[in-house]
Amino acid sequence: MTYSYDAPVSQTLFDRAAVVTPGGVNSPVRAFRAVGGTPRFMVSGTGPYLTDADGREYVDLVCSWGPMILGHAHPAVTEAVQAAVARGTSFGTPGAGEVELAEEIVARIEPVEQVRLVSSGTEATMSAIRLARGFTGRAKVVKFAGCYHGHVDALLAAAGSGVATFGLPDTPGVTGAQAGDTLVLPYNDLEAVRAAFAAHPGQIACVITEASPGNMGVVPPLPGFNQGLKDLCAENGALYISDEVMTGFRVSKAGWYGIDGVRPDLMTFGKVMGGGFPAAAFGGRADVMAHLAPAGPVYQAGTLSGNPVATAAGLAQLRLLDDAAYAKVDAVSAELRALIGDALTKEGVAHRLQVAGNMFSVFFTDRDVTDYDGAKGQEAFRFTAFFHSMLSQGVYLPPSAFESWFVSTAHDERALERVAAALPAAARAAAEATE
Ligand code: PLP
Repeated sequence: MTYSYDAPVSQTLFDRAAVVTPGGVNSPVRAFRAVGGTPRFMVSGTGPYLTDADGREYVDLVCSWGPMILGHAHPAVTEAVQAAVARGTSFGTPGAGEVELAEEIVARIEPVEQVRLVSSGTEATMSAIRLARGFTGRAKVVKFAGCYHGHVDALLAAAGSGVATFGLPDTPGVTGAQAGDTLVLPYNDLEAVRAAFAAHPGQIACVITEASPGNMGVVPPLPGFNQGLKDLCAENGALYISDEVMTGFRVSKAGWYGIDGVRPDLMTFGKVMGGGFPAAAFGGRADVMAHLAPAGPVYQAGTLSGNPVATAAGLAQLRLLDDAAYAKVDAVSAELRALIGDALTKEGVAHRLQVAGNMFSVFFTDRDVTDYDGAKGQEAFRFTAFFHSMLSQGVYLPPSAFESWFVSTAHDERALERVAAALPAAARAAAEATE
């Protein structure tokens, strides 16, 4: 497709980046490969807006893939970070901020009796799986197709043929052995999980699932699915790990747990809890966490774990996230969804707006999406046209049809009016798009 606008400074930066960095980016989705065109190099963010290197302002509906739930450069977070930086940026010792952040997490999320801080969601899920294996003395892990848990070797596995086969490496660099202990099952299919436990008695250490998936677009668990996973794990001596890196502290004070109340054995967190800095965590049952070094034998460590600047940012953000803040984000999300739905309906574009709390995404299909195959069945070419129309009108969407959209407390009427103004042309572009 051709683009009716350009971004010369971003393009120059992208060209330079491609010389020194593979693909020109430090995380693949940023390269716009799914939608084409020039990735925007952002230079600043304020509230609901981002400004790119060409000086164009965008309403940001990505929010750094979730973390910026108070908007960009929130004064209280900025102030806390500045104060922390002035005190020193890393000590390699325990610090008070880590204790306060851990206490905040434990206070908010009842199943988390103890928590360990790390620096990325990937580290959190990797460590939780190691702990589950160490605790149970078992090797196998169940995950679901379409759920993303970071770039952990064992979790970069694709489903083999049939539902109960072992995982195959999803990328060069992951060996058959690393993927071979992973069972990849269709999402929302409890029978497949039951069959996997029956086929591998006493061998499955844990089932890991996104609490409510956002990495194939938003595909919430069907009623009873998470509870069913929990029950099957309990019946079979496996741990139920709920990955709340995306949903944690975003969809409610207690994340998805606050919505469905299904009690995991272990949970993982990231994104919002770092306030825009690299901070993440895993936690859960105290008897399981007690197996972690130095209390127990399962090794896990990190030079920058519990970093004082990251913990200060996370704490400042979490302390502002009260019921009123979540009500505001929910209201913004609902208003936006209504605007998007109206615009697409007016143009006769088949779509599904799928929702998990305040997270949502648009699938260009006329069917409800309940698993990864369903997500892949959408007319993604319509999203490409929609995306570029929105971008050219100053609205920044996730550059892929398979991602959640994120909003913040800072998205005010002015920002929503700008989105509303852009939607009719984008909906028309989606309607007129051809494969
Ligand atoms: N788990 C989930 C559910 C995620 O959405 C992500 C990242 O998007 C991760 C884990 C990995 O987190 P990180 O990118 O911080 O390593």
